Amino acid sequence: MRYPPEPFRIKVVEPIKLISPEARQQAMQAAGHNVFALRAEDVFIDLLTDSGTGAMSQDQWAAIMRGDESYAGARSYYNLADAMTEIFGFEHFVPTHQGRAAENILTSQLVKPGMFVPSNMHFDTTEGNIMARGGRPTNLVIDEAFDPTNLHPFKGNMDIQKLRNFIQKVGPQKIPFGAITITNNAGGGQPVSVANIRAVSETYHEFGIPFFIDACRYAENAYFIKLREPGYANKSTLEIAREIFALADGAWMSAKKDGMVNIGGFLAMRDGELFQKVCNELILREGFVTYGGLAGRDLDALAVGLREGLDESYLAYRIGQTGYLGARLKENNVPCIEPSGGHAIFLDAGRLLPHIPHAEFPGQSLVASLYLAGGIRGVEIGSVMFAHPDPDTGKIVYPQLEMVRLAIPRRVYTQAHMDYVADVLGELALKAKELRGYRFTYAPELLRHFTARFETL
Ligand SMILES: *Cc1c(COP(=O)(O)O)cnc(C)c1O
Repeated sequence: MRYPPEPFRIKVVEPIKLISPEARQQAMQAAGHNVFALRAEDVFIDLLTDSGTGAMSQDQWAAIMRGDESYAGARSYYNLADAMTEIFGFEHFVPTHQGRAAENILTSQLVKPGMFVPSNMHFDTTEGNIMARGGRPTNLVIDEAFDPTNLHPFKGNMDIQKLRNFIQKVGPQKIPFGAITITNNAGGGQPVSVANIRAVSETYHEFGIPFFIDACRYAENAYFIKLREPGYANKSTLEIAREIFALADGAWMSAKKDGMVNIGGFLAMRDGELFQKVCNELILREGFVTYGGLAGRDLDALAVGLREGLDESYLAYRIGQTGYLGARLKENNVPCIEPSGGHAIFLDAGRLLPHIPHAEFPGQSLVASLYLAGGIRGVEIGSVMFAHPDPDTGKIVYPQLEMVRLAIPRRVYTQAHMDYVADVLGELALKAKELRGYRFTYAPELLRHFTARFETL
């Protein structure tokens, strides 16, 4: 298989440096073996997240210079509004400073204590915002999502039977809105099919429940549909996106993903009454309705970025690059979640390091070794992040999978960088037996992965 080369050439260069093995050892010691505490300059290839870490294009930088910083009614806002109408087609929208701000405003208006919000899988900030309003986020993804070797083409799909049963069990009046996340970030960046989105939409609407899409990676999702869903090969990603959003009553987005910008987001909807309330909340928390917590230039960069994010030569390269890293890792006998998602590769640390029990954090061991071996930064998505005591028994409940996520920033690293990552991991896999577990020397109660400190066992 031939992978598409980068459909751009490099005009501005940001140097990166692989510091010496001794310096990496020292940096990790000082960071308490937690890669979140490293200085980014001590990282060679940074795959911590794809959120806000992409490179903007010459057209986006030019748009930044044309930004209109008027407080109200700026030209930049109308540029963004044009792109919003063209792609998403909702009657109303407000800009927000990022995705979680849109989630906060939406949940503040709709979610009351004791209510439920179903989705395929909620992202952690969505979950947090629903819970902060006393609501209960519920994940109803298909069972295939939990099988790391199942090659289902749309592993992000929602289980329609589970959804129907759920709505009937809790009652539609207890569900202020229903959601779906495209692609399913928390489930490995796996796509959702149009057929599934249509069935989800029909099910919500049958019960009178408004349907909102978490659209962070909608363009990558649209491209997967073009590649994999029968009947879509000859449709443009723009046509596919329009077809998807026509099925929904609203959407929110962290534009730090497929918006191709370093900061930004939006909340869009059809309902004019809801929009009125959203505007009032936005003015209180974020800013006036035509800028919503962003500078005028940010709105212009986003207007350009939304269109670039849907460009099919870009998407062929983007999805191809992730697939390329996945294929190289497979050749090197590094176990991964399959098939590869859109924005990231998920390493199966549990399968690579069976000698390290959950309680000694196989994912943390792999993350730390990856940095020490090659200056590469990934993130643990396993027991450091998710193990918690059962509220009734006090016994620790461990997650099903011990994973390490390598998220790929957009338009930042080349295929040679991916080769380097695959080679370093291939060498690590050969001496997997030598890797050791870790224990906490400090761990806060909530969101402990960000600030925990460790020592080697
Ligand atoms: C990143 C993300 C969010 C939150 O967006 P922020 O810009 O980080 O606040 C919400 N949902 C999904 C699926 C995401 O990937």
